[in-house]
Amino acid sequence: MKNLRPALEEKKRQHRYRKRRIINSPQQAEIIFENKNVISFCSNDYLGFANHPQLKQTTCDAIKKYGVGSGSAHLVNGHTMAHHQLEQELAEFTGYPRAILFSTGYMANLGLCQALLDKNDFVFEDRLNHASLIDGGLISGARFQRYLHNNVDSLQQKISKVEKPTAEKLILTDGVFSMDGDIANLPALATLCKTSDSWLMVDDAHGFGTLGETGKGCLQHFSLSNNDVPIYMATLGKAMGTAGAFIAGSDALIETIIQQARTYIYTTAMPAAIAEATRCSLKLLQNEPEHLQKLKRNITYFRNCCEQTGLNIENSQTAIQPLIIGDEKQAVRISQQLFDAGFLVTAIRPPTVPKGTSRLRITLSARHSRAHIDALTAALPALLKPA
Ligand SMILES: *Cc1c(COP(=O)(O)O)cnc(C)c1O
Repeated sequence: MKNLRPALEEKKRQHRYRKRRIINSPQQAEIIFENKNVISFCSNDYLGFANHPQLKQTTCDAIKKYGVGSGSAHLVNGHTMAHHQLEQELAEFTGYPRAILFSTGYMANLGLCQALLDKNDFVFEDRLNHASLIDGGLISGARFQRYLHNNVDSLQQKISKVEKPTAEKLILTDGVFSMDGDIANLPALATLCKTSDSWLMVDDAHGFGTLGETGKGCLQHFSLSNNDVPIYMATLGKAMGTAGAFIAGSDALIETIIQQARTYIYTTAMPAAIAEATRCSLKLLQNEPEHLQKLKRNITYFRNCCEQTGLNIENSQTAIQPLIIGDEKQAVRISQQLFDAGFLVTAIRPPTVPKGTSRLRITLSARHSRAHIDALTAALPALLKPA
């Protein structure tokens, strides 16, 4: 048997060793992490729904009705009325004919690629796409190509080299890039996909619930219609504060997924109570616009504070605000010093991001107060000086 230790030691030497640390409180602005009270700036719970009293009550009530486990896959007897209603409500909210639930976003992306593509087809991906989209493209067996980040000319060049007119072409992109916070140039991508007869699929894990006038995501942000983006995917464990994911699209697309996607067919349905909780999140998003408004105000406030203290943040309009450090060791050091000072900000390193772009990934939530943001932006400048 192979000795596993040397590879682990090598990771430590490279400052790439990953460790799990224990949280002992709900997701909220102030959490107990490794037995220490800290202000969290790394959660994807952008609207603060994960610990919303109404969501918790709905979940408890649903458990009384449905029990805890869903017992089987959707195609056996795990597809409850709660799942079914949530799918209908997601379709209605996003404006697509139908939507289908998955247990996780990772599985949704794998399942979609595998359902739509085979080895005769082509898949094109933004270089900075989320790992689940990359893995989905690779596992599908289709010809796999990555284009330069958010660069539609680079994509066009790659598409124009496809010589097989019968092959399917699927373009996959994050809506909001998860480590950079920038938004995909969807209007240009949509136009290119139409003229080149390609499918466009957007993974809006970080835009759903946070972007656009009413939180409908990146399509609303750009005033695009569902015809511009035939396949829309978003996760429920981020702004919705629950767990799981969905894909929205045409009736034929959803039926194809049900028939073909192995990560849909061969897995247990998410608990019904999670589906009910997500229905509650969708209602909160529509009935309590103050959460989204507060998030947007916090983003503006954070950027103003950074400007005033001379912090060199990236040009991001979203809840993801990266501070690029470059060197892995420095990024880890600053993250540790922030922790000692009572702030939880994760250092993101290769291979999650390209070499030399290690960063602090700061995320904002509707639950942050101005005092939380003031404290972080006041603490950062001294720590950023090279040690
Ligand atoms: C989080 C995320 C996923 C994975 O979703 P999970 O439900 O956590 O598996 C997929 N795509 C993007 C862009 C994400 O940020």
